[in-house]
Amino acid sequence: MTAEPEGFVLDADVLVLGGGPAGAWAAITAAQRGASVVLADKGRVGTSGATAAANTAVIDVAPGSAAKRQVIERRLERGLGLARAEWIERMVDEAHARLGELAEWGYAFAWNDRGAIYRGSLRGPDYMQLLRRRLHKAGVRILDHSPAFKLFCAMARWLGPRASLGLARPGPCSPARSSSRRADAPS
Ligand SMILES: Cc1cc2nc3c(=O)[nH]c(=O)nc-3n(C[C@H](O)[C@H](O)[C@H](O)COP(=O)(O)OP(=O)(O)OC[C@H]3O[C@@H](n4cnc5c(N)ncnc54)[C@H](O)[C@@H]3O)c2cc1C
Repeated sequence: MTAEPEGFVLDADVLVLGGGPAGAWAAITAAQRGASVVLADKGRVGTSGATAAANTAVIDVAPGSAAKRQVIERRLERGLGLARAEWIERMVDEAHARLGELAEWGYAFAWNDRGAIYRGSLRGPDYMQLLRRRLHKAGVRILDHSPAFKLFCAMARWLGPRASLGLARPGPCSPARSSSRRADAPS
C-alpha cells in the first residue's frame, strides 16, 4: 500500500490504522514476521487511546489451568448464550502469551500482597510507552497525528484516475468538489 500524506510517499506491506494496544500489537507482530509496516494514529501512539490514560485490567490465566476453565465458564454464563468458548479461550491464551512477551521486554509488573509478581493490571502510560519503543525496535514507521481520513484523501489524490477504491470519485476528498465552490469559478 502506498500513501502520500503531506507530500511524501510511503510504501508498506501493511498499513495499521489506530495505535492503541490492538493496533500496536498487530503492527509489531506483522513487522516481526517480515512485513514492512506503517502505523497511523490520529493522536500520538503511546499516549492516545483509552488504555494510555489509566490502569488496565487483564485476565492472566495459564493454559490448561483450573483458573482458565473457571474464567471461560464464568464468561459463558454471563454471555447468556451469545459467547463462544473457543473465542474466550483464544482471548485469554493470547493475553497470557502477550503478558509473557511484556515480561521478556522488561515491563515492571506490580507485586501482590504476598510479594509475588501480579500481571492482572497494567499501568497504561508505561505499557503504551513500552509498546511505542517496541514498535520502533521492530522497524514500524509511526505516523502520529495522522487521522485515517486524511491519509485516504492523500492516497486518493495520489492515485487519481487509477483509483479503483472509489476514493477518487467526487466526494469529501475530491479537489473537484472544493474547486467547484471557488468564488472565481466560472458559473
Ligand atoms: C474507562 C475505560 C476503562 C477501560 N478499562 C479496561 C480494562 O480495565 N481492561 C481492558 O481490557 N479494557 C478496558 N477498556 C477497554 C479498552 O479501551 C480496550 O481494552 C483497549 O483500549 C482497546 O484497545 P484498542 O487498540 O482496540 O482501542 P483504543 O485503545 O481505543 O485505540 C484506538 C486508537 O485508534 C486511534 N484512532 C481512532 N480513530 C482514528 C482514525 N480515524 N485515524 C487514526 N487513528 C484513529 C485512537 O487515537 C486510538 O489511539 C476500558 C475502556 C474505557 C473507556
